[in-house]
Amino acid sequence: MADVTLEALLEEGRTFAPSAEFVRDALVHDGSLATAADADVEAFWAAQARDLLDWDQDFHTVLEWDLPYAKWFVGGKLNVSYNCLDRHVAAGHGAQVAFLWEGEPGDARAITYAELLAEVCRTANALRALGVEKGDRVALYLGMVPELPIAMLACARIGAAHSVVFGGFSADSLRDRIKDADAKLLVTGDGAWRRGSVVPLKEIADEAMAEAPSIERCLVLRRTAHEGVPMQDGRDVWWHDVVASQPSECAPVPMDAEDLLYLLYTSGTTGKPKGIMHTTGGYLTQVAFTHKYVFDLHPDTDVFWCTADCGWVTGHSYIVYGPLANRTTSVIYEGTPDHPDKDRFWSIVAKYRVTTLYTAPTAIRTFMKWGTEYPDRHDLSSLRLLGSVGEPINPEAWVWYWQHIGGGRCPVVDTWWQTETGAIMISPLPGATVAKPGSATFPLPGIGAEIVNDEGDAVSIPGGGYLVLTQPWPSMLRGIWGDPERYRETYWSRFFGRYFAGDGAKRDADGYYWLLGRVDDIMLVAGHNISTTEVESALVSHPAVAEAAVVGKTDETTGQAVAAFVILRSGNEASHRLVGELRDHVAEVIGPIAKPKSVLFAEDLPKTRSGKIMRRLLRNVAEDEALGDTTTLADPNVVAGIKARYLADAPDDEE
Ligand code: ATP
Ligand code: MG
Repeated sequence: MADVTLEALLEEGRTFAPSAEFVRDALVHDGSLATAADADVEAFWAAQARDLLDWDQDFHTVLEWDLPYAKWFVGGKLNVSYNCLDRHVAAGHGAQVAFLWEGEPGDARAITYAELLAEVCRTANALRALGVEKGDRVALYLGMVPELPIAMLACARIGAAHSVVFGGFSADSLRDRIKDADAKLLVTGDGAWRRGSVVPLKEIADEAMAEAPSIERCLVLRRTAHEGVPMQDGRDVWWHDVVASQPSECAPVPMDAEDLLYLLYTSGTTGKPKGIMHTTGGYLTQVAFTHKYVFDLHPDTDVFWCTADCGWVTGHSYIVYGPLANRTTSVIYEGTPDHPDKDRFWSIVAKYRVTTLYTAPTAIRTFMKWGTEYPDRHDLSSLRLLGSVGEPINPEAWVWYWQHIGGGRCPVVDTWWQTETGAIMISPLPGATVAKPGSATFPLPGIGAEIVNDEGDAVSIPGGGYLVLTQPWPSMLRGIWGDPERYRETYWSRFFGRYFAGDGAKRDADGYYWLLGRVDDIMLVAGHNISTTEVESALVSHPAVAEAAVVGKTDETTGQAVAAFVILRSGNEASHRLVGELRDHVAEVIGPIAKPKSVLFAEDLPKTRSGKIMRRLLRNVAEDEALGDTTTLADPNVVAGIKARYLADAPDDEE
């Protein structure tokens, strides 16, 4: 790895303070939470744990820290599903809608807290009847149907850990995850809907199970009801046969605060996915805390929509556990943003009067590419707060989101976190923080972060380097399943005593944090460390560009040169003139050092199934190397197409 003191080239001067109207009703409008956390961080988290959750048995120790292993709320006992369901029903909120499910094709279902509790209990009883016991692992492979969160909560109710595998993954990916987790039972469906056609989940699952002998039983949900779904006698049972007849009560098992709640594999943007372990008490505390304060949750009036899939950590923490712990009414959407038309998200916002929308930069840049006519068709006036997660958000995309979706009225919270962190770590508090587009602003109260150089010394402000977390946090990963060495090596060996996030970052003169992309992606051009994010953001600030990815390519004179891959906004044409214009634009916005040596126009970029740009594959293309691990790629054709074009065009546009 190159000596990383990032040059921090891009300047962003725009600031956005929350409106007086937003501040008036905001849960947090000053620095009091931060003051409390700074005074005594353990007491702060203990207070959050007791305030936000119901414990069967109080904890005696807030934190045991035996580097790199943390235990939070030691001695405490609680059940996650009880905290998400029973206590709200007991408090008289059984009739409140928990999930507004928007299904494909054309169906919809509203599920109240009382109904959700009954369904979770039935499912928990069915899991037990199928042999699942406390401490077992259960794999879940479904589309975005309500039965996915139901199955997650049912596992939590009886103390089994779930391992959700995104419903778009292949048989091989599913098999690898089942085997790694040694899962005993698989929950899947006959199929899932995808743009009006059926993905044959059960057939894919059968292929995976054939090579994953740990699976004893398979519970199959009927969703698409297509013909000829294979069922294996003695192993496979239908959900409607075994769940519906179960009693609607099931006592929640009190779990140790440190018992495993789930395993989840990372997105695989930078390499082979890691099986991340999350436990019970600390995880639920921090997801509830961040969901409440980052999204300024008003449970009686808000309609919250996190557009992620439950197959990713964002779905775990901000569709299921955080929102339900806080008694939220949430939208769950089964389909894609462009089916049946490109205004699908906005018709859902209007239909359910969504107040809070949490989505990803990849989606926002796609909406920019499609143009404003789609959001303009709908009444988006119910929105009051917008969120972003998953990648750095380019300032231009941030401003587009703020203006065209938020109507210039809604704060935007750019939330930095990872599968490993379990919950949001760096983000504005929307009623208290003045935002800068493209900056995740500051670590949340109770979170310690720092930017360091190669020696591990904090860089001066302004300055850039590696992002590290300086103290344990309640929802931190407890390890990598089955691989303690990789846990220590990946996160705790680079800088002693601090968690290495793998992301580059800078702080500006006001102390704001800016995430600058993966440290593995940082380019070294003529002795300067240049961030992918900053060059991409400069490209996206050109009116013709919707999305861009840049990588460093070996260069005889400069060591590395910037190779750019660009997607245009609709209505713009690729041309040699535009190549020159974009190169000049980057030189003007950032400086000549960051000027791309080559620009290739593409229809799409290689992305993970969670929508993140996989720059390492573009680097393979630019270097004319074999492609690395592609198992988490959404569409292998995209990178194959780019590779063919790249070789044919030899797109070096030297001066
Ligand atoms: P893998 O670890 O397997 O390579 P991944 O890192 O993409 O995959 P996730 O845990 O889903 O897996 O993603 C976390 C990463 O996403 C962060 O480390 C960061 O690079 C990026 N990220 C998430 N949110 C933001 C954000 N708001 N700003 C900048 N980057 C973000
Ligand atoms: Mg990662």
